Amino acid sequence: MSENPSSQLPERVDVLIVGAGAAGLMCAATAGNRGRSVLVLDHANKVGKKILMSGGGRCNFTNLYTAPENFYSENPHFCKSALARFTQWDFIALVEKHGIPYHEKTLGQLFCDNKSKDIVDLLLAECRAAKAQIRTRCSIRNIEPLEKGFIVDTSLGPVFCESLVIATGGLSIPTMGATGFGYDVARQFGLNIIPTRAALVPFTQHRRQLERQGELPGSALEVTASCGEGSFSEQMLFTHRGLSGPAVLQISSHWREGQAVSFDLAPGRDLAEWLRERREQNPDSHLHSALAEIWSKKLVQYFLQRQGVESRALKQYGEKALAGIGQKLQTWQLLPAGTEGYRTAEVTLGGVDTDEISSRTMECKAQSGLYFIGEVLDVTGWLGGYNFQWAWASGHAAGEVA
Ligand SMILES: Cc1cc2nc3c(=O)[nH]c(=O)nc-3n(C[C@H](O)[C@H](O)[C@H](O)COP(=O)(O)OP(=O)(O)OC[C@H]3O[C@@H](n4cnc5c(N)ncnc54)[C@H](O)[C@@H]3O)c2cc1C
Repeated sequence: MSENPSSQLPERVDVLIVGAGAAGLMCAATAGNRGRSVLVLDHANKVGKKILMSGGGRCNFTNLYTAPENFYSENPHFCKSALARFTQWDFIALVEKHGIPYHEKTLGQLFCDNKSKDIVDLLLAECRAAKAQIRTRCSIRNIEPLEKGFIVDTSLGPVFCESLVIATGGLSIPTMGATGFGYDVARQFGLNIIPTRAALVPFTQHRRQLERQGELPGSALEVTASCGEGSFSEQMLFTHRGLSGPAVLQISSHWREGQAVSFDLAPGRDLAEWLRERREQNPDSHLHSALAEIWSKKLVQYFLQRQGVESRALKQYGEKALAGIGQKLQTWQLLPAGTEGYRTAEVTLGGVDTDEISSRTMECKAQSGLYFIGEVLDVTGWLGGYNFQWAWASGHAAGEVA
């Protein structure tokens, strides 16, 4: 394996992969293990940059409960075949083979105990063993399809390949090297692109909303966030620019401009019933003191103010009033100003239309020898290790045939 940018490119290879990220490296190792000569090219100065920054530096590399239901796509059936043929258990076996310590954090999310670099090292070791070559700082200028194969003109010279795999990912975090290259290639070959949008991304709020939040930034609480058909029970975090935390990132994949998001601020409880019990036990206690058993004082004050609820002794509320308070705090409606966009989004929704791709091999139906894998496709996972599992599974599927 070589990552030396100055060494000459081979003139011909069986498989040329553009993009040395999660999907591209997995594909390279799989194809190389079949005895195919493999070259991976990436325009960045080093491989796997998103892996390195993922999971807060500890890479949430898969999820124990990965299932097709955890993915968004215009065709929800598309991901099934690849996910079934390279499962979370297959990747876990690879992690264990390389002696990488890991743990489950929550909800089946598996993280490295040490650092994300362990996963990049695993992929590089697998590529080395499979004799796949890797070159960084190399850009692609032109792709010319031949009757069989492609001539790819690169900044390091032309390469002929039988199979061409596009693994250039989505649009999120352009400063890390993300480009729309994969979509341009798809268009060159007449493929449809499902409109893209930033997902797994924090919400921004209007200045007036932020002013009302006062000193809340940094405060977190468990919520159920709902929008459209999506509903997620996880943490929400107040930030200086709006809202973040896993529940908000998850629901951002369902949100569209102008829609309100509904938050149950006391998930798993019937708040009105709970307040009734508190009233019976301690009728002189005030509403805000009771609620301070669930949230911090700052949060109680904020939510009561926002919902126009006056705090009085619990004995002063009748049945209807308690039911109303419960209702207000369990269906808090928020109209986000927008999202932080691709600048901080973890993934891109949409992408190369899967109708144009074989779900078994990832090969383009209309162009023999051309493959699309990973996030560039219209397959997007939930937060929690699902996006890497898709990269591994789709990379493996193409690597078995390319
Ligand atoms: C901050 C952050 C944290 C994340 N954390 C997690 C997590 O913990 N768990 C999880 O499952 N998912 C996580 N994700 C999502 C995950 O990183 C991606 O879904 C995954 O990396 C997609 O793999 P990929 O191989 O398709 O694309 P990428 O990993 O993005 O790789 C694409 C490669 O193509 C290269 N490239 C792009 N354009 C060109 C071009 N024009 N020419 C040559 N090369 C090019 C890039 O340099 C890059 O190396 C996170 C994403 C971000 C941004």
